Amino acid sequence: MINVIGRKDRAPIRTCLGCRQRRAQQKLWRFALDNSGCVIKDFRGMHDGRHAYCCQADSCLQRFFKNKKGLSRAFRQQVLGFDEGLQGLFGSEQ
Ligand SMILES: [Zn+2]
Repeated sequence: MINVIGRKDRAPIRTCLGCRQRRAQQKLWRFALDNSGCVIKDFRGMHDGRHAYCCQADSCLQRFFKNKKGLSRAFRQQVLGFDEGLQGLFGSEQ
């Protein structure tokens, strides 16, 4: 048996809050929570703290927006709303 624990050559895996599937972090959109409890885009990882992830697909995004409970859990803080700019993600599926 080869000991693989401690290897760092694998991409980090995150869970999509839309479909709950685990995927490579780079294939997911990243979101952060601003000071007012509003979910914002954080594709470049500019914000510190906790993040939530979602597949780059409309179907997942739709469920992501409805999953306020899951989002609040991911951020460990109550999610009060969504940034208007997030609407622009619909249809930008890659
Ligand atoms: Zn998904």
